[in-house]
Amino acid sequence: MTEIYDLHCHSTASDGALSPTGLIERAHRQGVTALALTDHDTTAGLAEAQQCADANGVRLIPGIELSANWQDKCFHIVGLGINPLHPPLAEATRNLQNTRLERAEKIALKLENKRIPGSLEAVKKAAGDGMITRSHFADFLLSQNHVSTQQEAFDRYLGKGKPAYVSTSWAALELAVNWITESGGIAVLAHPLRYQLTASWVKRLLTAFRQAGGQGIEVVTGRNTAEEIRLAAHYASTFDLAGSVGSDFHSPANQWVELGRLAPLPDKIRPVWELLESP
Ligand code: AMP
Ligand code: MN
Ligand code: MN
Ligand code: MN
Repeated sequence: MTEIYDLHCHSTASDGALSPTGLIERAHRQGVTALALTDHDTTAGLAEAQQCADANGVRLIPGIELSANWQDKCFHIVGLGINPLHPPLAEATRNLQNTRLERAEKIALKLENKRIPGSLEAVKKAAGDGMITRSHFADFLLSQNHVSTQQEAFDRYLGKGKPAYVSTSWAALELAVNWITESGGIAVLAHPLRYQLTASWVKRLLTAFRQAGGQGIEVVTGRNTAEEIRLAAHYASTFDLAGSVGSDFHSPANQWVELGRLAPLPDKIRPVWELLESP
């Protein structure tokens, strides 16, 4: 059987709109046969996702999307085929819940200084047991009519250099990659074109990522253009990284990004799933 892969998406365990069950059901309806759930800094959705995947005959690849720092910038590292019970990874995600809560408290204070009260209570309620992310703040700002789109919330308040931006110390890139690889997973650099790096920064980043044990890079993500896929594929071949495909699906409300609706990986790129253990 030809598998239809989607190796990057989010549930209510972080900033996704669907529960792990809702996500797996939707993926199944969209024809996805192998899905990686990759919530921000948490594996809390994986157990529920596994139950639903088993019931629907979907292959679940246990995943995570870790926030990491390198050269004072934040990068996202997707881990595929991880073991969420591996003690260092489990401890890291527990600590990250606190990091995110403390960061949320600081963001809320900054919003209060801009005469926008009440955000902390709102984001805590919206995130429930899940990770609090800036998307939750964006939703809050939207619901209170301070902005008219999520993007505007990032452009005016939450993005780097904006009044409610809080710089966060995430784990170093090398450490984040180790948590993934030592748990048995493959570390994949997420959405490489979203960091707006010059060619020389890309070279330094990918060299450091490979040295740390990174083995993959997302070549097809979300709503990439053909030109973007070519560029990411060029990075994959230049730095000898396997290619991954993942929608980065967050919500059915975003009609541009759907589970499993992805361009094929270019032929010359080694697919990252060849590195994952067969089921
Ligand atoms: P965090 O990890 O808490 O900093 O939140 C990052 C999340 O916010 C990303 O995974 C996206 O889902 C969302 N996000 C980041 N930048 C933007 C943006 N410019 N517009 C909309 N959503 C964004
Ligand atoms: Mn997100
Ligand atoms: Mn990301
Ligand atoms: Mn993501």
